[in-house]
Amino acid sequence: MVAQVLVELTNKKVDKTFDYLVPENLKDTLRVGVRVLVPFGRNTLEGFVLNLTSSSEREDLKEILEIVDQEIVLNDELLSLGKYLKSVTLATLISCYQVMLPKALRAKNTHHLAVKYQKVISLADKDIDISPFKGSQAEIIKRLQEKGEVLKSELADISASSVKTLLKKGILVEKEVEEYRLQSEVELKEKYPLTEEQQIVVDKVLSYEGFKPYLLHGVTGSGKTEVYMEIIEAMLKKGKKSIVLVPEISLTPQIVKRFRSRFGKNVAILHSRLSEGEKYDEWRKIARGEIDIVIGARSAIFAPLTNIGAIIIDEEHTASYHQENNPRYDAIDVALYRGKIHNCPVILGSATPTLESYARAQKGVYQLLNLPHRVQERSLPTITIVDLKDAHKSSNFYFSDVLLEKIKDRLDKDEQILLLLNRRGYASFLSCSNCGEVIKCPHCDISLTYHKSSNTLRCHYCGYGTKKVNVCPTCHQESMKSIGLGTERLEEELKKLFPTTSIVRMDYDTTSRKGSHEKIIEDFAQGKYQILLGTQMIAKGLDFPKVTLVGVINADTGLNIPDFRSSENTFQLLDQVAGRSGRGEKPGEVVLQTFNPDHYAIRYTKTHDYLGFYQEEMKIRKMLKYSPFYYMTLIKVASSDEGLALNEIQKIYRSLSRNLKESILLGPTPSGLFRVNNTFYYQIIIKYKKEDNLYPTLEKVLDYYASNSKVRVTIDFNARSFI
Ligand code: ADP
Ligand code: ZN
Repeated sequence: MVAQVLVELTNKKVDKTFDYLVPENLKDTLRVGVRVLVPFGRNTLEGFVLNLTSSSEREDLKEILEIVDQEIVLNDELLSLGKYLKSVTLATLISCYQVMLPKALRAKNTHHLAVKYQKVISLADKDIDISPFKGSQAEIIKRLQEKGEVLKSELADISASSVKTLLKKGILVEKEVEEYRLQSEVELKEKYPLTEEQQIVVDKVLSYEGFKPYLLHGVTGSGKTEVYMEIIEAMLKKGKKSIVLVPEISLTPQIVKRFRSRFGKNVAILHSRLSEGEKYDEWRKIARGEIDIVIGARSAIFAPLTNIGAIIIDEEHTASYHQENNPRYDAIDVALYRGKIHNCPVILGSATPTLESYARAQKGVYQLLNLPHRVQERSLPTITIVDLKDAHKSSNFYFSDVLLEKIKDRLDKDEQILLLLNRRGYASFLSCSNCGEVIKCPHCDISLTYHKSSNTLRCHYCGYGTKKVNVCPTCHQESMKSIGLGTERLEEELKKLFPTTSIVRMDYDTTSRKGSHEKIIEDFAQGKYQILLGTQMIAKGLDFPKVTLVGVINADTGLNIPDFRSSENTFQLLDQVAGRSGRGEKPGEVVLQTFNPDHYAIRYTKTHDYLGFYQEEMKIRKMLKYSPFYYMTLIKVASSDEGLALNEIQKIYRSLSRNLKESILLGPTPSGLFRVNNTFYYQIIIKYKKEDNLYPTLEKVLDYYASNSKVRVTIDFNARSFI
C-alpha cells in the first residue's frame, strides 16, 4: 500500500504530495486524513495523508515512520475544503490545511501538546453490599452508587486514604480520562418571548429547508443574538449543529455568556486568546461530536462539525473575517461553501452590512431579513453633532461643553458612559516646536506614538520602541512637544476633570494579558466603573443596559485614511458605537465631536439612516468603478531592496497588461504603508467584472517568484483594506 503525503513545507515548489510505502505494522491503522512522520531528504517531517493507493509510479519509495494521532485530523469535508481554499486564494495546499487546525494539530513539528488526563473512580461491582463498610468507606461507596463515576479529586474531600484502601482491595477501580482545560459553570436562564419582528425573521429562516444565504439587517439592539439562538435551538431539536462567528475577542465574553446561559455546556469556544492547550481541547470536543454549538472568531468557520444546521456570522461587516496573510481567505466565502455542502441556512447579521453584502441582498443573491426596531419599543439614541471648529473656544480642549455637561449629568444620575477615541497611546507623535522635526520609526514610514506610562516612543506597525527624547535630534533644542490625543492621555484628562469617578480604559495596551479584556467588560457590566473609554474595541456588540451616553471624542480619525472604504468604515464604527447607548430601560444619547459635521458619513449616522448612506456611497463607488461594481484584486510586492521591489512590480504590471484584457489596472504605486519593518511595498489593483484569464495569469506570476528569496509577491482576491 502506498500513501500520498502532503508534507509541512510551505514552499510553493513542494506543494504537492509525495508517495510513501505503508509498512506492514501500520497497514491496519493508517487512514486518509491522519498525520504521519516521514523521512524527507535528511529530515523527518510531518505531513497529512491525502490518499491511499495500491501502487506508485516511482520505485525506491521510503517508508512512513509513524502515525502521529490516533484520530483523523482532516475529515473528508475538511480535505475538500482545503482544495477549495487553494483554488480561490492561490495559497499552498499545506497552508490551507494548516489554517483550519489549532496549532497543536498542525503538521509543523514533533513537539506535541500533551493531552491532559484526570483520574476517575468507579465501583468494581455496582451492586456491592454496603453493610460491612463503615464511616468514610461507606460514604464513598454510597456516593459512587448514586453517581456511577466520580473524579478522584472529589472523593479526596471524604477521605483520600479510604479511597486508596478500597482501590487496593479491588472494590474501587481507577481509570484515566482526558480532561478538557476550558471549564466554566454558568447559570441557565429563561429565554425571552420573541417580539413579533423577531418571530417573523425566525419563521422565515425555518420555513425553508436547504441551503440559503440571508442578510439579517437589524438595527443595534434589535435582538439579533436572540434570533440566532432561536434558530440554533430549532436546529438542535432536529439533531443539527451550528457555527456562530463573532468578531475577534471584543465580543466574545458577552456573547459566549449569553449562549452558555441558554445552551449550557453544549457550546465550544474557539478564539485567539485561548491557550494552545485550550484550543486543542475545544477542537477535540468538536471533532468527537461531543458539542453541538461552536462560537468563535474567523478560523472557527473550519470547526470540524458534521451535520451542520445553521451557520451564523454576526457583525458580518467586520474586517477581521478576512485573513490578512496566506491563505488570504474570507470567512464569509467559506461559510457559503460549507452551507452548500451541509444544505443549511447561512445568516449574515449586522446593523451596518458591507456595501457588498447589501448590494447582494438587493439583487436577491442573499435574502434580506429586517429588524428595523429595537426590542421593547426602545428608541435608537438621539445623536448630537458637535463641530470641533467651534468647540475650541470651549473651556476644555478635548471635551466640548455639550459633552462635558452630559457627562456630568449622567454621573449625577449614576448612569454609565462610554467614550470612544480610536487612537491608543498618549500622544500621536512628538514634534519639535523649534524646527518642526517629527520623530519617526527608523524601520517604518510612520511617526512614533508617545506612551507615557512606559515613557517610550513606540511604532504601532513593527513594535519598535525607544525611550522618549526631550532634545530634538535635528536642532538640539530642548523643545519636543507631544501632539495629538490618544486614549492614555484621554484617561489622564478625565481623571483630572472627574477625580472621584471610577474610570477604566480598554485598548490594546490595557488588554494584553490573558483575561484582562473579559475582566474589564465584566467589571463595567457590574457597575464597578462609571466611565469606560477605549478604542474601537468598545464599539461593537457590547450590551451594557446602564449606558445612556456615548461620546465620540474625534469622529474623524478614520476619514483621512487613504482607502476607498474610509467613509464606509467610519459610518460603521460610528453607528455601532452609537448603538451601545440606551440599550436598557432608559433612553440613550450620543455626542459626536467632529471637524467634518457635513461629511455624509456623519450626517447619515446622525439619523441612523443606513439606507441613505448606502445609496450615496453606492453612487460614488459606481462613478469611480470600485467594489461592489467591480471585483478588486490586490497584488503587492515586498522587498528589503526598494529598487528591486519597484523593478519587479513594473515587470508584473507589464505581464498583467498583456494578459488581462478585460481589466482595469491601477498602479503600480507605492503602498499606503510604503515601508514597514525595513521592507518596501509596491502594489497594483486589478479591477474587473469578468476576467477569465485572471487566475491562470496570477498563478504564473506566483510560480515565477516561488523560489525568489529577495522579493515576496502576495495576492489578495478580496482584500478589505487597500493601503
Ligand atoms: P443586537 O445583537 O441586535 O444588538 P441583542 O440581541 O444584543 O441585540 O439584544 C439587545 C438587548 O435586548 C439584549 O439585552 C437582549 O437581552 C434584549 N432582548 C433581545 N430580545 C428580546 C426580547 N424578545 N424581549 C426582551 N428583551 C430582548
Ligand atoms: Zn516601525
